[in-house]
Amino acid sequence: MAKDSLPSMPIGVAADGSLPLPWLSAALAQAGALAQAHALLIHGPAGGGHLALALLLAQTALCEDPSALQRQRACGRCGSCHLVVTRVHPDLLLVLPETLRVALAWVDDEDSKLAKGEAKPSREIKVDQIRDAIAWAQQTSGRGRGKVLLLHPADALNTASANALLKTLEEPPGRLRLLLTSADPEQLLATVRSRCQRLRLDLPPTTVALGWLQSQGVADPGALLQAAGGSPLEALAWAREGVTAALLADLPRRVAVGDASSLVGRPVPRVVDWLLRLSHDAQVLAAGGLPRFFAAQHLPVGADPAALRLWQSALQRAARHDEHPWNAGLLIESLVSQAAVVWPRPGQGGRMPDPASLHSRR
Ligand SMILES: [Zn+2]
Repeated sequence: MAKDSLPSMPIGVAADGSLPLPWLSAALAQAGALAQAHALLIHGPAGGGHLALALLLAQTALCEDPSALQRQRACGRCGSCHLVVTRVHPDLLLVLPETLRVALAWVDDEDSKLAKGEAKPSREIKVDQIRDAIAWAQQTSGRGRGKVLLLHPADALNTASANALLKTLEEPPGRLRLLLTSADPEQLLATVRSRCQRLRLDLPPTTVALGWLQSQGVADPGALLQAAGGSPLEALAWAREGVTAALLADLPRRVAVGDASSLVGRPVPRVVDWLLRLSHDAQVLAAGGLPRFFAAQHLPVGADPAALRLWQSALQRAARHDEHPWNAGLLIESLVSQAAVVWPRPGQGGRMPDPASLHSRR
């Protein structure tokens, strides 16, 4: 559920040798044993810093300091390291879906329609992007240390683009290294998966994540980190959007009475994610378990099991079709009004709103 969408995405080893995300050091050390792999698949739960790790590996492979490869750490100071950090290295190509480039504000001048918000960004890595990348890979390395092609996330490859990549993945031209990331490798084409060696990146331990969030200026990060499923990057992105611990503490109670006021105006995928997490916790709580995303004392009790299942189905439909023609505010209000049926208050009947009437309202 978490996404690596961090507008101020830190790139590469800094000039003082520090890592952009402190918990990447363990995975970076493991990568040493895989330094000869032509294709590497970085995998693990989303929101742990796949892209940041892939950029570190790219920077290390291209670093012009002779000891960089041996230490498995780029120097952060040479000309190549500087070009990686400023995203203009001629031997590093990043292939991202347009939605992510927009989220990271990495939209080039030639994408003027995307930059102006006139074109709808694609969530897929398109086959044309792969064809362009293959043509790029066949040209000579600009700085003579080979090339790195980074695809993030590989989950965004559609069937045509994955198939277009296969030959290059099997026999990379010259000294090309491919770096792929995936939150769900089992969903990738088996032919893509089998051609890559794997490097796992887990979410950091809670204490490390909390310390890092505090160092980023998040005053009360506990509730944000919990609601973000342990992803510090997602928690930080929320904090920068003004999401507070108080808002999250209050959210379950408000939703349970059909009050959408703290949600309307926020991005639909974000709201649907929160409501899915709330419904998950309500289900776990009803079964006598410990909630995962919200604090138990903030969760309403007495959910009606049948209404909860209906609400979850509605949320899952909304998650699959977050590009529907509905007015976003109306969709959020309708999803929250269905939650009020899950937790009927004393003296009130629990009737589900008729979905047909929601479609026709404007
Ligand atoms: Zn360097």
